[in-house]
Amino acid sequence: MKPTDPTPSAAEPALGFDNTYARELGGLYAAWQPAQVPAPVLLRFNHALADELGWPADVLAGPAGADWFGGKRLLPGAEPLAQAYAGHQFGGYSPQLGDGRALLLGEVMDRHDQRRDVAFKGSGRTPFSRGGDGKAALGPVLREYLIGEAMHALGIPTTRALAAVATGESVRREAGALPGAVLTRVAASHLRVGTFQWASASADPDLLRRLADYSIARHDPELSGQPGRYLGLLEAVGKRQAALVARWMGVGFIHGVMNTDNMTISGETIDYGPCAFMDAYDPATVFSSIDRNGRYAYGNQPHMARWNLARLAEALLPLMVQTPDAEDQVQAAIAEATAVIDAFPGWYQAAWLGVMRAKLGLEGEEAGDEALAQDWLALLAEQSADFTLSFRRLADVADHPPPQEAASALGLAPGGAWADWWARWMRRTGLADAPRPALAATLRAVNPRFVPRNLRVEEALDAATESGDLAPFERLLAVLQRPFDEQPDAAAYAEPPAPAQMAGYRTFCGT
Ligand code: AMP
Ligand code: MG
Repeated sequence: MKPTDPTPSAAEPALGFDNTYARELGGLYAAWQPAQVPAPVLLRFNHALADELGWPADVLAGPAGADWFGGKRLLPGAEPLAQAYAGHQFGGYSPQLGDGRALLLGEVMDRHDQRRDVAFKGSGRTPFSRGGDGKAALGPVLREYLIGEAMHALGIPTTRALAAVATGESVRREAGALPGAVLTRVAASHLRVGTFQWASASADPDLLRRLADYSIARHDPELSGQPGRYLGLLEAVGKRQAALVARWMGVGFIHGVMNTDNMTISGETIDYGPCAFMDAYDPATVFSSIDRNGRYAYGNQPHMARWNLARLAEALLPLMVQTPDAEDQVQAAIAEATAVIDAFPGWYQAAWLGVMRAKLGLEGEEAGDEALAQDWLALLAEQSADFTLSFRRLADVADHPPPQEAASALGLAPGGAWADWWARWMRRTGLADAPRPALAATLRAVNPRFVPRNLRVEEALDAATESGDLAPFERLLAVLQRPFDEQPDAAAYAEPPAPAQMAGYRTFCGT
């Protein structure tokens, strides 16, 4: 047998790795190996996701799994590399960020013929590590696993977790020595706005074009070879981000660190650091300890997505002019890019209204829909009502609309703007005229009963890190994988926290 013609075996399964990023984007990465770890243990493996990749889940989760997904032994066909990128972090530009604790292993074509990246997070220092140790602590790794899978179950585009391995090593953080871990992440790609910023600032004028054409081939193939493709790329990214942030808003998700290096070109949610789900509705909600000015507050997320899009536009601008010195060309390109950035709020608003119509059970489109949605949110804000449960309870009242007691069935106080809103909603849904037996089911299919409640997440991560007990994590994950099902035995996971429990709740980056 020729060595170039390996037979798939349990020892060396054929994973079908391709490495287009390594082949085509020289100048945008450093080839690099994962660090050795002392005693890897495979804590969690995502069999369903492995199946989706066409990978042999049982082999990968078998005895060699800990070595493969801890980085001790290279997965067959992987060509690990650290990606270069720059980025605006909280508004300030860092010319050199890059994968300081991550490595791209390669790409695989999944069962739907989609190219997916497989990458490590927490696999040791790289040339981009700056002062960092290149490691990840177990808590943040499990947090990313849990919340990413919850987002996926909610139907929101996201990177996903394939495996979590405890390394047997401790990592030093502000909180002291913590158990270390490596996450294996699957993504449509890891191209970020920051990747374009890095290429745009590089001394190699060809690099930006190679990156943009690579990105187009991967995410917007219909633009390939088109004359206006770089403007088209900007527009496509803007539309994906508008749709994504609208989906976040619909489940009360706060990303927490929407820096340009954490904004994907693919339109997937990436980097679950200090993110959290809002309990009581308040657009000013911020959880991240480092977001002191509320730059990435819940209600600010659409504005920040647009701000990030403007940074992508700046990075792409050199590709939109033929002759860099021709001032008229530069001005024309700026005007075109500006028009895309200015179109963002309209895309977002349309996407958001679509989300709200679905959540309120409004069929078709009527002129008063936006006001109906805004007035509902104003009611929730006024009463500090729980975001998730208030929407979910609309399904309960749709089953049996009780005209007088509806407010309390929704967990709201009557009075004020309530009666007017309720009458409008009853009219708009048709419930005022006749019962609509199917409406409740429709509402339950879009308004989750379960989101990752902060205290539940903390409880699960604490048990795992402090006593190695993964049972609460597994239980919570199982509940979050079916967010729209009633799951009567999991009622406690749907409960909002008592206000006192949440006072001063903060999330941390864990870096
Ligand atoms: P993040 O906030 O996790 O998106 O990371 C921002 C930047 O910091 C990226 O360039 C990361 O690679 C880098 N970084 C985060 N944590 C570490 C770490 N422990 N060691 C080295 N680099 C890190
Ligand atoms: Mg990041």
